[in-house]
Amino acid sequence: MDLDLLGTGDAITTSNVIIVGGSFSGNLLAWILATRGIHAHVLEEHKRVGLPMECAGIVSSKICKLIPIPRKFIHGRVSTAEIYVPGDMAIKVRTRDAPVVIDRTGLDDYYHEMAKRKGAVYHLGERVNKITRDGEYWLVETSRGIYKTQMLVGCDGAKSIVARSAGMNHDFITGKQVLIHVKDDADKPCSANTCELHFDPRWNELFAWVIPRGSSYFRVGLCAKFYVATKLNQFFSSRFGLTLEEARRGDRQKKISIDILKTTGGLIPVGHMHQCAFAGMILLGDAACQVKATTGGGLVMSSLAATYAARAICKSLQQDKYSKKFLARHYQKPCRRQLALTLKMHYILHLGLSYLEDSDYSFLSRFGTQAHVRKWLLSAADMDFPLKFILRVFLEPSFISWVIRFLFRNPFLLVASFKTLVTLPRSRKDIYPTKTNPP
Ligand SMILES: Cc1cc2nc3c(=O)[nH]c(=O)nc-3n(C[C@H](O)[C@H](O)[C@H](O)COP(=O)(O)OP(=O)(O)OC[C@H]3O[C@@H](n4cnc5c(N)ncnc54)[C@H](O)[C@@H]3O)c2cc1C
Repeated sequence: MDLDLLGTGDAITTSNVIIVGGSFSGNLLAWILATRGIHAHVLEEHKRVGLPMECAGIVSSKICKLIPIPRKFIHGRVSTAEIYVPGDMAIKVRTRDAPVVIDRTGLDDYYHEMAKRKGAVYHLGERVNKITRDGEYWLVETSRGIYKTQMLVGCDGAKSIVARSAGMNHDFITGKQVLIHVKDDADKPCSANTCELHFDPRWNELFAWVIPRGSSYFRVGLCAKFYVATKLNQFFSSRFGLTLEEARRGDRQKKISIDILKTTGGLIPVGHMHQCAFAGMILLGDAACQVKATTGGGLVMSSLAATYAARAICKSLQQDKYSKKFLARHYQKPCRRQLALTLKMHYILHLGLSYLEDSDYSFLSRFGTQAHVRKWLLSAADMDFPLKFILRVFLEPSFISWVIRFLFRNPFLLVASFKTLVTLPRSRKDIYPTKTNPP
């Protein structure tokens, strides 16, 4: 790190690599780079890493093979998913590969500490306000100073200022959740090894969830574009028989005794992976829209992309090459090869799900409860890479005939799916509208 002086007298910190955002992807990348001798500067607007916590923490067990996760950060495993659709029909899905529920705050801080120990430099409580190009360098202006780098990495989430400075911006939905403690052991309203997904036209941009965290703590939340708090309250009262306000007040007249411990929320980018390599700049994680549009989950995809990012950055520094072409070849190309088709499939499914009507839900729940489909779900369902399962389902004549009827009603989805499959979005215009309903 050098200290330069601009003509204005402002001190400029020069660094080989600057990472904006010290959350999951920023810390993971900073740590991988530090193990390879590259000491990035990480600029994070919050004073504490991992807070505020905006994640439900459920992730496929694949993540344990991709990155090291100490046992103490695993709250538990979820062996069954219960999928509810309107009309209170439920499909129980068991997978061989039980997802894990992780302690996101702990894990973010773990990578932060490991990265710091290996030489990464953290600037906490420092917000990036402006990014400009200065010849071959990026000038990054923060609340405390100015930084200069040839390699800028945007790990700053759905509203990434780094992505915006490269001309990219995302559409997003808002996730809101409460952490609850269920006090009455005798009559637990939910189970410690089952996660619930509730689909409903009122929050058809995604779904509502109940995710266990240990045996008596649960995260209850949902995602929507508008009226998120109202919709969460509607879901909470239909699921638990009391409103959030009644639970907060500790209404003793109700049968279930629930404590609301925390309310958190955050943005989830909607779309599929954007262009993620530019001259002297790469985007990673939510900033690159490396998020599954069906679930809003981004941890597995960003873990995979972080390894490609680290490799590309090492090559870039070794060969002193920072061009868009070089980074596209060494970062964007492997990301596209491994992730693009999957993320596109998730996005097409997400678009389709947002247009479902009651008759579609009832067909899908009947279809999903057939014995042979349940067997496929057990053997082939994969919450990250669903292609194999989708191909299998498309061999079923009853499913194909439903898809044809559905597309006949929504011909726009056919065009959107085709365009999605052949392009990589470069701006918000390339993303199609998710249907949004009032509460
Ligand atoms: C309610 C909710 C539930 C979720 N549940 C799950 C789940 O169960 N499983 C799953 O896999 N994923 C889940 N996700 C998604 C997951 O949380 C994200 O994919 C993941 O956090 C992305 O990490 P990231 O580091 O790319 O971005 P973020 O976690 O968004 O981090 C961005 C960081 O950049 C910082 N930052 C932003 N702007 C600036 C700036 N200008 N200057 C300095 N710092 C800045 C922020 O403070 C933040 O620390 C959920 C998301 C939400 C909102």
